[in-house]
Amino acid sequence: GQLDARVRIKGAGELARLGSSFNSMAEAVQQSEERQRRLVADVAHEMRTPLSNLRGYLEGLSDGVIEPSRELFVSLHEETMLQSRILDDLQVLALAEAGDLGYTRTPIDLAELASLSVTAHRAVAAEAQVALTVDASAPAWVSADQDRIRQVLGNLLTNAIRYTDREGQVLVRVRAENGEAVLTVQDTGVGIAPGDLPHVFDRFWRADPARQRATGGTGLGLTIAQRIVADHGGRIDVESRQHVGTTFTVRLPLSTPASAA
Ligand code: ADP
Repeated sequence: GQLDARVRIKGAGELARLGSSFNSMAEAVQQSEERQRRLVADVAHEMRTPLSNLRGYLEGLSDGVIEPSRELFVSLHEETMLQSRILDDLQVLALAEAGDLGYTRTPIDLAELASLSVTAHRAVAAEAQVALTVDASAPAWVSADQDRIRQVLGNLLTNAIRYTDREGQVLVRVRAENGEAVLTVQDTGVGIAPGDLPHVFDRFWRADPARQRATGGTGLGLTIAQRIVADHGGRIDVESRQHVGTTFTVRLPLSTPASAA
């Protein structure tokens, strides 16, 4: 049971004010404990099934009930890699939530960074037979942590490719408008149901856990992306139509170019 840490003091004097600020602190502590509990429960839930699968296979192999095969080892290896990625992502998320990610901000051109990110994803897109194009000719300077923004772009691009069928298209655009650097990642993919849209940034949420497992996602990519963008004073939005496609938009405050900094 939860301990009730509240104090009750009648009146409007100094003591009553002290009492009420004590109460809001107690509430904040309770909320953060509740968040911690939920996080631990979510993580346990996420890792239980894959771990018991692994255990089952390893037991079967040691008992000689399962024939060792290259395919089996490859899939067990992929499963452990996914678990490692989940842990890496969780660590980033935990650091971000504690305000401890230690951003190193420098002037960066979002247009250039987006182009580099697109280049880095060419091979994955080609493999998925998705046409990947970029329209980012004019510079859009922001003051940001290059590695973290690169991580955001990577998450959005990987998703766009992952949730788009063969012959589909992914278009990355960067422009500067109204004091903001605006990046869009638009795909012609499977889309997201209207009822699901409010959940896409939730931790471990995915529309289709089976597909997500098959594609190696962690369900944490967008949670982390939203956190990083918010920490840079920006925001990230999503628009989608099922079977038509999805567009993620990242807005960051424009800053001074590197040459002027
Ligand atoms: P995951 O590792 O599962 O991709 P994310 O946090 O990056 O985790 O995304 C959460 C979920 O949002 C995905 O599982 C998917 O259902 C949905 N989603 C994300 N990006 C797209 C997209 N471009 N098109 C359709 N669905 C998407």
